[in-house]
Amino acid sequence: MQFFSTRDQSRRVSASQAIAQGLSEEGGLFVPESFPQVDVKALCGLDYPAMAAAVLREYLTDYDPAFLAGAAAATYGDAFGGKAGYLAPVEGDTWALELWHGPTCAFKDYALQLMPKLLVEAKRNLGRTEKTLILVATSGDTGKAALDGYHDIPGVEIAVFYPTGGTSEIQRLQMATQEGANVAVYAVRGNFDDAQTGVKRVFADKEIAARLAQRNICLSSANSINWGRLAPQIVYYFAAYAQLLKAGKIAFGDEVDFCVPTGNFGDILAGYYAKQMGLPVGRLVCASNQNNVLTDFLRTGVYTARRAFYKTSSPSMDILVSSNLERLLWHVTGSDAEVAGLMDQLNREGSYTVRPETLAAIQGTFACGWSSEEEVAAEICTRWERDGYLCDTHTAVAFHVAGQQKRAGVPMVVLSTASPFKFPRSVLAALGHAAPENDFEAMQALEQATGRTAPASLAGLRQKPERFDAVIDPSQIAEVALGYQA
Ligand SMILES: *Cc1c(COP(=O)(O)O)cnc(C)c1O
Repeated sequence: MQFFSTRDQSRRVSASQAIAQGLSEEGGLFVPESFPQVDVKALCGLDYPAMAAAVLREYLTDYDPAFLAGAAAATYGDAFGGKAGYLAPVEGDTWALELWHGPTCAFKDYALQLMPKLLVEAKRNLGRTEKTLILVATSGDTGKAALDGYHDIPGVEIAVFYPTGGTSEIQRLQMATQEGANVAVYAVRGNFDDAQTGVKRVFADKEIAARLAQRNICLSSANSINWGRLAPQIVYYFAAYAQLLKAGKIAFGDEVDFCVPTGNFGDILAGYYAKQMGLPVGRLVCASNQNNVLTDFLRTGVYTARRAFYKTSSPSMDILVSSNLERLLWHVTGSDAEVAGLMDQLNREGSYTVRPETLAAIQGTFACGWSSEEEVAAEICTRWERDGYLCDTHTAVAFHVAGQQKRAGVPMVVLSTASPFKFPRSVLAALGHAAPENDFEAMQALEQATGRTAPASLAGLRQKPERFDAVIDPSQIAEVALGYQA
């Protein structure tokens, strides 16, 4: 399996190169040259680690299969408390795919606990010995999940950039208290897009790359623009389907719809790959918060990032430029020139419009909707009071949209992307309780109000010393990168 750049199809790389490099040199994203077809029935009979290895093998064809099996077993066992890909019943034929049983309590652990292993192996496959400097722009959850995955990995340094005030206090503390000799964390003035644009600029800067190369340092990314982030996320769509089969809720071949709380379009795009690989996915429902740029795009074909930016109670979805949409555009248009043109327009003018055929093809698979802040709060409350199901703000965005898009007779799986205890003040307030200012007091109050226990990794943050407090401008991200020595 080879990978192309979405903006220049003549740039072909192996899986190891795609993972080691992150982004193509001219700014495009790597996409697989074809969709591998799998024996879905056989996959559904496997446990999670074996299923993960089987899916990864299809894409990472220059990796040793035994390595992939070992890495998947080491990643998806104990660290997920035996609940990797766990499907919880909610009501009727609506289900929650709980993806937050990993070490940082957000779904990003699925990719970021595995990615470091994939990167080290990629370098070995390529015979490369340089130091890898990973730069991460985060709206909250990616940062911690990446820090947790990469800390003390040999031959790797990682620097994380998050928007000041754009994360919850718990998310901030998760990052600021990270241990490890090879980690650094910076608050960036501005919003997530400012941080992401700053990081992307460094990746696109040939002079920075050349100066770092002289010191035997190579830049890489852990954002969901890296193929190594996307591939592991394909697996849990299969896992959800397998559990519905096993429970006798569907017959083999029946369609299942998935509703995904979406920001950078990575998680939902993994569902698209699962569908293209043969999984009977019906519709993929893209759920947005008040930053509903994707809802508008999926309805009209006009993508415009030139709009008001809202800070919401689901900060990991506060995104106006959804990077992974570029991959979908490539798969649907099949034209690197067309994608390059659209992305250039987005850069220069802040918007683009796709052709009617392109929109129609996308709408054939993707439905959409968005939730206001009031609707998110009401959804958290209803789910708890009616179904006894406690969900976080991001998941609530998706539950609300899933309710609008539910098709009779077609099971709906809502991707539950974070533990409710990660956003305790919002969840508590939604349940009608006065929320203490302090996140940890809110966590305790939420435990008392619901009788549920907060994950130990979150409750324990209070005792940990803060290591990082630097605040920088987006333009200083380049200086940070150039400050590294081999
Ligand atoms: C990152 C994140 C999302 C959005 O996922 P994308 O892949 O960026 O679309 C949703 N919910 C939570 C909790 C997240 O951390």
